Amino acid sequence: MNAPYAPTGLDFPWPDTPEPGGYQQIAEGILWIRLPLPMALDHVNVYAFDEGDSWTIVDTGFKSKHGVKLWEALLEGALKGKPVGRVLLTHHHPDHVGMAGWFVERGAALWSSRTAWLMSRMLILDVEKEMTAQSHKFWTQAGMDKDLLEKRRVERPYNFADACHDLPVGYTRLKEGDVLEMGGRSWDVLEGNGHAPEHLTFWSRDDDFVVAGDQIISSISPNIGVYATEPEADPLGEWIASCEKFEAIARPEHIVLSGHKRPFVGLPHRMRQLRENHEHCLERLVEHLSEPKTAAECFAPLFKRKIDEGIYGMALVEAVAHLNHLLTEGRAVREAREDGAWLWRAKG
Ligand SMILES: [Zn+2]
Repeated sequence: MNAPYAPTGLDFPWPDTPEPGGYQQIAEGILWIRLPLPMALDHVNVYAFDEGDSWTIVDTGFKSKHGVKLWEALLEGALKGKPVGRVLLTHHHPDHVGMAGWFVERGAALWSSRTAWLMSRMLILDVEKEMTAQSHKFWTQAGMDKDLLEKRRVERPYNFADACHDLPVGYTRLKEGDVLEMGGRSWDVLEGNGHAPEHLTFWSRDDDFVVAGDQIISSISPNIGVYATEPEADPLGEWIASCEKFEAIARPEHIVLSGHKRPFVGLPHRMRQLRENHEHCLERLVEHLSEPKTAAECFAPLFKRKIDEGIYGMALVEAVAHLNHLLTEGRAVREAREDGAWLWRAKG
């Protein structure tokens, strides 16, 4: 396929973005579907692959009454009345897994990494009515603003089940090194980490398409966060390792179909950018830690925008991820302040 070539920057072969609930044909057998999300990042991309008498879809969007209506219209329109026979998940986040159970109930098979399956099934079942003691401790250690923490303590927390259909038991495991048939092509299955554990990506052997989920996105850097579920994790270390892995196999001809924003060309450049973004963040953070700081006091060196309440939680989990990485690498140390917050400072 002759795709625009992007030796130095990024190119966007399909400049017209589908409307929410709309679609566009990308190539023979591949549709790009865009679904709305009720948040700052207001959309997610889903891809449909024609299997002759049925479709494979990669990711599904949030579950909501509106989401069901959009899918019913898409099944009749874009998908020409043929059923979805298989749902592939790139990773376990609600904007990707939300409608998966709805399709499984209607006869689709579910394929994903084992970790994505276990995480989504666990988190959909785990409905918390109030903030757990573990979450409270985690946010305290991160130095969350005290008024905000108190507000969140008495609010019902966000649960996966709010945006995800129940996920019936049973799935097919995909893992690194598998080869998959989809949409008339063979695809290598490669795993990434950092944004979500065992995040799957699919690399076509027959043309230049890469289905990348949230592992590789053109104009936003995927959120890398640490949560109360695994407070000592170093997802940023895993993220950087994944960037290096994909950078080594990236070709200028690759056409990246990602979970958000537009499909793009220029993968070698983008992989380098994604890795360097975080490396520069870490350098600025080390400088910032010449004086002891909590994670919540580390937004300035990490983000180039004002952090309002809507994105405060996302910013804080990302700040902890950067600090945990410095700790793992021996570039920072921490000690508990009287109120329980970790105070971080650069080592040496
Ligand atoms: Zn996403």
